[in-house]
Amino acid sequence: MATNNNFDEYKNIWVFAEQRGGKFENVALELIGEGYRLSRDIGDGCKVCAVLVGSGVEGLASELYAHGADNVYLIDHPLLANYTTDGYTKAITDDINEHKPEIMLLGATHIGRDLAPRIAARLDTGLTADCTRLDVDTAKYKEYLEKNTTLDTSKIVGYDDDKSLKQTRPAFGGNLMATILCKSTRPQMSTVRPGVMQKLDLHEGKTGELIKLDAQLSDTDLRVSVLDIVKEAKERVSLSGAEIICAGGRGLGNAEGFELIRQLADKVGGEVGASRAAVDSGWIDHARQVGQTGTTVKPRIYFACGISGAIQHLAGMQASDCIIAINKDPDAPIFEVADYGIVGDLFQVIPEIIRQWDMA
Ligand SMILES: Cc1cc2nc3c(=O)[nH]c(=O)nc-3n(C[C@H](O)[C@H](O)[C@H](O)COP(=O)(O)OP(=O)(O)OC[C@H]3O[C@@H](n4cnc5c(N)ncnc54)[C@H](O)[C@@H]3O)c2cc1C
Repeated sequence: MATNNNFDEYKNIWVFAEQRGGKFENVALELIGEGYRLSRDIGDGCKVCAVLVGSGVEGLASELYAHGADNVYLIDHPLLANYTTDGYTKAITDDINEHKPEIMLLGATHIGRDLAPRIAARLDTGLTADCTRLDVDTAKYKEYLEKNTTLDTSKIVGYDDDKSLKQTRPAFGGNLMATILCKSTRPQMSTVRPGVMQKLDLHEGKTGELIKLDAQLSDTDLRVSVLDIVKEAKERVSLSGAEIICAGGRGLGNAEGFELIRQLADKVGGEVGASRAAVDSGWIDHARQVGQTGTTVKPRIYFACGISGAIQHLAGMQASDCIIAINKDPDAPIFEVADYGIVGDLFQVIPEIIRQWDMA
């Protein structure tokens, strides 16, 4: 029987401030920005609080305040120096039970995806994985729905202006967006895709309250110990933070086709991206896949070359500032989201762009 249904006891938004070796994951800072926005929509003194876990990490708190955190909950313990499922789950679950946040957000990283379901199961609460949009159930949200959907908002099940969290994520292979509520237990938990939410502008020197939490941990709580960390020698692909992405699809014809995309990327100072069709064909590594089952990106410029614009691809790149599509089919759906569309053979168009770039 759940004991976590007395909603009045639950307050504030917690964000898991995931860090590795003292460096925060981008998504953690993005979620502080999103948590800040949600907390102000909730009102009633709701605060956004970063949960900083590790060993000897207190010095990182200032970065979290600068990114918008009102408070930092610090869980510092030698056994939390490296991520382990058991250690982090126990430490965070104990503190949620004690301090009772109404919302807990984690990045949908490898660690977040491992940790969030463990915590949710121990708390006997719901979790929505891989969200791409979060809203609070308020009149403001109703206004958004009225403007952006054809639905009659009076008939939306669950809409009752009770400030519960609307957690939106792609469903049924990305063919529709599902909005999920956690109606009967607290906290409401979500993992959120990296690159989707906005960081706040940095406020150097901003401070907040540091709340030190006691982690009750012993060796016997951890079934796994980290003996050594070996970094993958493979080149690290950083699509989610890239300013310019040159992405290629099945229209490239074969793996050699990507040479042209690499030349374009070198020329414009971008990263190489790909559609799933190109990845599934074995032409390029999965780390470069953009879309629903790849990385979500938001560069200043996104070149889509020989990519048709399937909904699952669009789900990962349509928030880009400027989309330039090159496709020989004038009816390709990618042109519906493109800011600039070039109808033509990419093997002629891309060399011409490179040539013009050299002349500029
Ligand atoms: C559950 C699920 C998850 C998925 N996740 C993803 C995902 O994360 N990312 C993703 O990308 N897809 C994903 N997909 C696959 C997606 O549905 C599409 O199949 C895929 O995006 C198509 O890739 P594409 O545009 O490269 O290929 P195609 O759809 O085959 O398009 C190739 C395009 O190239 C054009 N073209 C061909 N030759 C040339 C030329 N010489 N010059 C210019 N244009 C040319 C064609 O006109 C065509 O528009 C997913 C599918 C499912 C079911």
